[in-house]
Amino acid sequence: MKLSAFGEKLSAGAGILSLMDDLGTALAEGGKIMMGGGNPGHIPEIQTVMAERLRTLTDDEQLLRRLIGTYDPPRGEGEFLQALASLLRREYGWDLTEENICLTNGSQGAFFLLFNVLAGTTGNGGKRKILLPMAPEYIGYADLGLVDDFFVSVRPRIEMIGDHFFKYRVDFEGITITDEIGALCVSRPTNPTGNVLTDDEIARLARLAEENEIPFIIDNAYGVPFPGMIYTEATPVWNENLILCMSLSKFGLPAVRTGIVIAGKEMIRLLSGVNAVVNLAPGSFGAMLTTEIIRSGEIIRLSREVIKPFYQHKMQRALTCLQECFKGIAYKVHVPEGAMFLWLWFPGLPLSGRQLYERLKKRGVVVVSGDYFFPGLAPGWRHTDECLRITYSQEEEAVRRGIHIIAEELRAILA
Ligand code: PLP
Repeated sequence: MKLSAFGEKLSAGAGILSLMDDLGTALAEGGKIMMGGGNPGHIPEIQTVMAERLRTLTDDEQLLRRLIGTYDPPRGEGEFLQALASLLRREYGWDLTEENICLTNGSQGAFFLLFNVLAGTTGNGGKRKILLPMAPEYIGYADLGLVDDFFVSVRPRIEMIGDHFFKYRVDFEGITITDEIGALCVSRPTNPTGNVLTDDEIARLARLAEENEIPFIIDNAYGVPFPGMIYTEATPVWNENLILCMSLSKFGLPAVRTGIVIAGKEMIRLLSGVNAVVNLAPGSFGAMLTTEIIRSGEIIRLSREVIKPFYQHKMQRALTCLQECFKGIAYKVHVPEGAMFLWLWFPGLPLSGRQLYERLKKRGVVVVSGDYFFPGLAPGWRHTDECLRITYSQEEEAVRRGIHIIAEELRAILA
């Protein structure tokens, strides 16, 4: 088959493809401990709320027609947009309306659109890139650019905390914004590290973006007001120069594929135009499932009182288990301030992250090798090969067994 450059780019062994494939295969084979992907946990209370809402939608002829029988406008379901704009005004005082919001089929799709409208080849033959101010960063960005050499990222400063913890900090001295940079992007909380960039870091990055007249994209897939997976203090921010991306996935709805972009009206008009061209309209399902709980604010209560404690508890259990099992092993763990991952660092690891991943897979534990998470970083930093991401969102017993096996394998390697 003869492919275009676009076809070749999208079919070239993408990291996210091999990760999703691997996870799919491991899941289908069964018997594996899945600590690799970003699937959220299944929380009965959330599922009950959603099941009730689904029944209401299917029992009412008019609602059912809107749910499955009508295309929404390219910006998405109007009542959902109004309810969300009103919630954000009420909760955070942000100066926005529904015209500042656009839905996409999953936030992954939003990043594809945003990155490629802001970076890539320009009309005059120039080139623009997306700057990730701090690597490691979300693996899902790595293959989204339609041209090569799409990202630039910057090594963080590493702050050691006690014997076994560390925190990445943005190294502002390492950031240079040239005319080649089309936008800045960070995930907050960060996938894979569970880091939450501080208010000061976010404010400085926002200032940098504004001074250079480029947008600053904040990926809020795990943030507040929903799903609220933040275990530290962090102020949510938005203004017309920021593009805030949200998602219903980690609230417990990854299969409904609903992404939410909150931005200046001009960017929203542009995005909804792209939506119309590529998808005609975003799906209505996630929007209609959640409009009522957004309107009433119940989504915030569920996030604060159900989702956050669910993951925070899992994080604490996983961390305690890790501290017990890893005694005597030279390891460090990033302070887990949010999301659902532990990011492990083994200074001086005598094999690569991918070799460690393969060995663990043979033992029935699926994790993700850390080296995937440094898109756009200049090669040569040993650290990228010394890290591992594990997900703690699944059953506690499985996570415990997984951590035991990782510790056993590391002892064998380091012996
Ligand atoms: N951003 C981050 C940081 C993620 O971890 C994910 C999924 O794991 C996404 C975006 C994409 O999520 P979705 O497309 O399900 O909204």
